[in-house]
Parts: sequence; structure tokens; C-alpha cells
Amino acid sequence: EFGEDEGDEGDLAPRPPVVTVMGHVDHGKTKLLDAIRHTNVVAREAGGITQHIGAYQVGTTHEGEPRKITFIDTPGHEAFTAMRARGAQATDIAVLVVAADDGVKPQTIEALNHAQAADVPIVVAVNKIDKEGADPTKVRAQLTEYGLVAEEFGGSTLFVDISAKQGIGIDGLLEAILLTADAELDLRANPDMDAQGLAIEAHLDKGRGPVATVLVQRGTLRVGDSIVCGEAFGRVRAMLDDNGETVDEADPSRPVLVLGLTAVPRAGDNFIVVGDDRMARQIAQQRAARQRIADMARSGRRRTLEELFKDLEKGQVDELKLIIKGDVSGSVEALEDALLKIDVGEEVKLRVLHRAVGAITEYDVNLAIADDNAVIIGFNVRPEVRARDLAEREGVDIRYYSVIYQAIEEIEAALKGMLKPEFEEVRTGTAEVREVFKVPKIGNVAGSIVRTGVITRNSKARLIRDGVVVADNLTVSSLRRFKDDATEVREGFECGIGVGYNDIKVEDVIETFEMQEKPRV
Ligand code: GDP
Repeated sequence: EFGEDEGDEGDLAPRPPVVTVMGHVDHGKTKLLDAIRHTNVVAREAGGITQHIGAYQVGTTHEGEPRKITFIDTPGHEAFTAMRARGAQATDIAVLVVAADDGVKPQTIEALNHAQAADVPIVVAVNKIDKEGADPTKVRAQLTEYGLVAEEFGGSTLFVDISAKQGIGIDGLLEAILLTADAELDLRANPDMDAQGLAIEAHLDKGRGPVATVLVQRGTLRVGDSIVCGEAFGRVRAMLDDNGETVDEADPSRPVLVLGLTAVPRAGDNFIVVGDDRMARQIAQQRAARQRIADMARSGRRRTLEELFKDLEKGQVDELKLIIKGDVSGSVEALEDALLKIDVGEEVKLRVLHRAVGAITEYDVNLAIADDNAVIIGFNVRPEVRARDLAEREGVDIRYYSVIYQAIEEIEAALKGMLKPEFEEVRTGTAEVREVFKVPKIGNVAGSIVRTGVITRNSKARLIRDGVVVADNLTVSSLRRFKDDATEVREGFECGIGVGYNDIKVEDVIETFEMQEKPRV
């Protein structure tokens, strides 16, 4: 099985670090990945064509020794989070890219929170130092606040000034990665066993069938091996490296494109080599069956806020982790400040894993999944469709509030073990606005299609634009099918909806809800 014993100390050999590049949009992650690749790619035959297979390995010299580093080629922390949500940890070190002319930005913090939550050491690449207005010292000062203290400032984080565009400082960055790896990690694996590792990218290729880029984590993968990868299986027919060259074997930390699988695995699925094809098929089928059972059991497996409170009381968990999303930065900050000020005694801690402005995204949900038992607080915001689906499937608790003191009261009361039965909001329907009509006396009416549930006349409603609540405390005051008044309109049908609010735009979503008594916990 995966994670099997690797044998004795003597069987372990050093392996290259695996690195993910993260940072705020436009700070130069992609440019940096290109620069590293072009200056240092392991020597390849003339005419070799660079293949983007999801990861690549570069060679460098460190303290007189030849060394390798593997880079995951998908920039950003979203992929990292999605993999971690599946229990996979592909990364040993994170490179945090910060543009020196722009400084620390929301996604810089997001990425940093993420790497820290995963216990992955960080090397900071201060990019764009060629630009006017670049202020690398300011970046160092800003990051101090978040626990990343540069060596020059007496800390232990390595900061390297670079220009991805001009290729300045790239060698220094590779050096810093290896220094950090050697100082903080013990990266060794047994190369002499059946291979195990992770799928980091996979797709269906027209000519070649399912192809998957796998990262070998232990052992050596060879052409001809029978493997199981997630619920896919097959025999390795051929392997290609990131230069498009065929390889016969891949050792630890080596990414290779594998041909020969019978289905497309998912990023983050682990793979193992097994005795033969028959066994591979059996294991894959067992996994698929187990996965179905797990999927069924999963909704509800994660703990809700109430259950977490109970566990806090019993001392079974000692930290309540929150992800806060809100409509404007003022409300997010006010909510966070107030929550962190709640006096809950020394042994119980509230920790905010992530906070940001905007709709609840798949990223937020994945973060809640990866960090067991985190709860999402939505303040005047709603989840995107895919995020809502994922949360429902995985049983992630999302709490919606529209008044700060209510959020604080509920959490404070619960933390003090005083949670009373309360009313909770149950969504009854959503409708998407297709057209807006001006109707004399009534005002603007939204020509809409009901997307989920039922829209009922007189029910409570709110208006949502791009995932953010723009008007709350509304009532469905008029409801029409064609020219007739209607009391309710179901999913899939068109109708005209008036909510006594005129600033309605096409693509807005009208959400209706009712208050139901919450079951006592
Ligand atoms: P990403 O969104 O973080 O992947 O950022 P990109 O790599 O796409 O870079 C965003 C923009 O910044 C592009 O126009 C790059 O050409 C530019 N850029 C990236 N690195 C540098 C740099 O070192 N110096 C300058 N002047 N521009 C850079």
C-alpha cells in the first residue's frame, strides 16, 4: 500500500527538493518558472523540444556538487490546495514571489498562509528589481509582520532579489532553495523499491489515450511496471520527461509523463506499483468501490460549527479554524478583529486561516477540506456554483451572516457553551435575472429564470451580484408568469419578480429563503 515502509537508514538516498512557485497575480510566477527552465534545464539533445508536462527538473551546482531541483509547473497556490485537499503533499519548499514595485498583496498573504499551514518552508523571491520604483527592502519589512523575517533582519528566511525578465538572480534563488532544503528538511527516499508517488496532472490525449504526469516520491518507476493510480490502472507503456525524451526509469522527485493507463486519474491521486496487471485491476476496482462508499459517507462526516464547539468543550480539539469571506475589506477586518478578541480562555484558540473579499470560491472550500474541521464564514457573500457543489459534496460547513454582531454573538455564545436553539436560514430558491423591465407603480421587475427550488410570493429575498449581496431584507412583492399573478414558480420556469428594489442588473441572482428552527445540538 501507499506510504509503505522504506526500509533502514542505509537504504535511503538524498532526493531533490520539489518546489511550488506561489504569489500574487502578475508578480511574475510564470516568468520565473520560464526563466529557471531556460537557464538551467538539464542538458538536452540539440533540437529537443520543451514539453510542458506539469513539472520539470533543473540541474545546478551547489557547494561544488551537482544537484537537481524539481519545479511544479503550475504557478499559484490553488493547485497546491486542491492537491492537499486530497491528502497529497507534493511540495517540499514554496517560493513566494513578490514584485518589488508592488509589494505584499492579498494573494501573497493567501499563498503564505497556505505554505505555513502545510508546514512547507518558504524562500522569498523579490522579483522585478529591474523596475523603477522597486523597493526590495520594503518587501522584507512588510513580510516581517507575517513571520517571514529575512536573514539580514536577524531571521531565518532567505530572500533573494531577482528579475525573472532579465534573468538576474536566478542562480542565487536556486542556491537559496538548496540551502533551505539542506538546513530544514531531510529529503531522502529509498530508490530501490517499487515506485510510489502522485499524479500531478492528467488528461485524455487524442492519439495516446490517458496520459498522466506523475511525481515519483519513493522507489524507481520503470517501463513495464503495473501501476494503480487513484482509480485508474495499467502497465507503463512508455515514459517521457519534460524534454519530450523517452526514459526507461524515473527515480525519486523525478516527474515523468506516463502512457498506458486505462483511465485518467485526478491531480493529487497517489500511485503505486503492484505485482501484475491483474492485481492492478483488482486494487483499482476495490479503490473505486471504497471511494463510492466514502463519497456517500462523506457528506456529514466533517464536523459542523456546533460539533466543533462540543469538541472544544470536551477538549477533543483545541483550535477553531475559520475562513472569513466578506463583501468589503472593512467588514472582513472588523469581523476578524472582533472574533479574535472574544475571550475564550487560554486553552481554546480561534485561528483565522484565510480572509479575503469576494464570493466564496473553490479555493476557500478546498482550504477548509485540507485543514480538517475549518469552518467558512460568509459575510454578505455567497459561494460560487462550483464552490457550493464542492462544499455540499464534502460536507463543509458554511455560515452566512449579514450583521457583524450576530456572527460574533453566535460564535461567542457557542464558545462559552451556551448555544441555544435558534432560527436558521434555509434557502428556498434562486433565480437568475435575464432582463429588467420598468413597470409603472411597481418599479423595476426582473425577468428571470428559476435556477433552483421554488420562488414564492411574499418570501424573504436578497439580491446577489457576482457572489456579493447587494441588497438584503427584501420581499418578493410581485410574482408573475406571463401576464398572470403567480403564488409560486418552480425550477426551470421563467417569471417576473419584483422585490421592491430598483437597482437590478442582468445576471444578478435573486435568492429567497425562510427561517426554520434549528435542531438543538
Ligand atoms: P504571474 O501572474 O505571477 O504568473 O505573472 P507573469 O509571470 O505572467 O508576469 C506578469 C507580468 O510581469 C508580465 O508582463 C511579465 O513580463 C512581467 N514581469 C515578470 N517578471 C518581471 C521582471 O522581473 N521584471 C519586469 N520588468 N517585468 C516582469
